[in-house]
Amino acid sequence: MKKYIWRIAAGIAVICLLVYTVVWRTDNQKVSRSTFALDTYITLTAYGRYAEGAIDAAISRIEQIEGMMSAYREDSSVSYINRMAAQEPVKLKDGLAQVMACGLKYWRLTGGAFDLTVEPIVRLWGITSDNPHVPTREELEELLPLVGSDKLVFDEEKKTVFFTKPGMGIDLGGIAKGYAADEVERILRENGVTSAVIDLGGNIVVLGPRRVDAWEWMRGLFHNGISRNEWKVGIQQPFAPTGEYCLTVQVCDKAIVSAGAYERNFERDGVLYHHIISPKTGMPARGELDSVTVICDSSMEADALSTSIYVLGLDAGMQLADECGADVILIDRDKKIHTTLNLADVDINNQQYTFAD
Ligand code: AMP
Ligand code: MG
Repeated sequence: MKKYIWRIAAGIAVICLLVYTVVWRTDNQKVSRSTFALDTYITLTAYGRYAEGAIDAAISRIEQIEGMMSAYREDSSVSYINRMAAQEPVKLKDGLAQVMACGLKYWRLTGGAFDLTVEPIVRLWGITSDNPHVPTREELEELLPLVGSDKLVFDEEKKTVFFTKPGMGIDLGGIAKGYAADEVERILRENGVTSAVIDLGGNIVVLGPRRVDAWEWMRGLFHNGISRNEWKVGIQQPFAPTGEYCLTVQVCDKAIVSAGAYERNFERDGVLYHHIISPKTGMPARGELDSVTVICDSSMEADALSTSIYVLGLDAGMQLADECGADVILIDRDKKIHTTLNLADVDINNQQYTFAD
């Protein structure tokens, strides 16, 4: 009798182990997919049994957003708005109205440093095109009167936009990737994903806790008494090759967006011209900071805020971040790090960088 009980117990144990292994593997199954949209490389990584379907749905949504917001496609909604909105109010799709409202919010908060109507100047520079051009003073003087969100009529109820001057345009390059990252996060969650990393050309969202394997989990338990499952996100070292990180931060369930002159630029006669424009002068913003990283709950807010802070500089930028309740990591030109984060959550990978006093 005793022999049978032992056999049954051993059988149950083996079955439990098998079931556990299968469940563990399915729950930790990793699906990663890359694509190119919104003029940037996109990689979505999700874990678990719902990952595959959720990523498919997210990629479809990115394609829709590209169709609405791309500045590079003649057939996008934004291109249509830029052709038509000086003639009559143009009706906006829901996503566009949301992005417009957020863009205008940051225009107000920054006193005009962030301005979606900078489009004619962005087009003139063509920094992201194959033929960038340093404008003459006359060219800038001609286009600057077209810049200013006060010349744009946005009806939030009717969801329409109207330009009061012919030649005006909107450029969503400073905010659209953030909106897309938020949409991807929403879709992954709605499809049952509880752990994922969304990377839209450096606009990162880390969703849920990081999946750790059994070995890492036990090691964590042994070493720290806890299993650390925050994500470690690298902060691009300004002007270093892409993927070289000067810092890493530990975060969970957050959007992280960086902005800086190092992202898109060109050199002419020994001068570096970059893609973040001061709407007041039409020239690349003065660049008091080498890099601005914003960490908060919404990627769209973090995207608009990081571009805004880059234009505003250190002190006004810190103040704005505080007003918006966002965390920041600002790296100045002397490689000093100014952050609102707990210093224990920021690891310095390159010793040239130090915390500011
Ligand atoms: P980001 O890469 O998010 O920092 O945004 C930079 C992009 O936003 C540029 O490539 C332009 O398309 C657009 N942009 C440039 N200057 C401004 C500005 N002052 N306000 C709003 N958008 C801007
Ligand atoms: Mg931005």
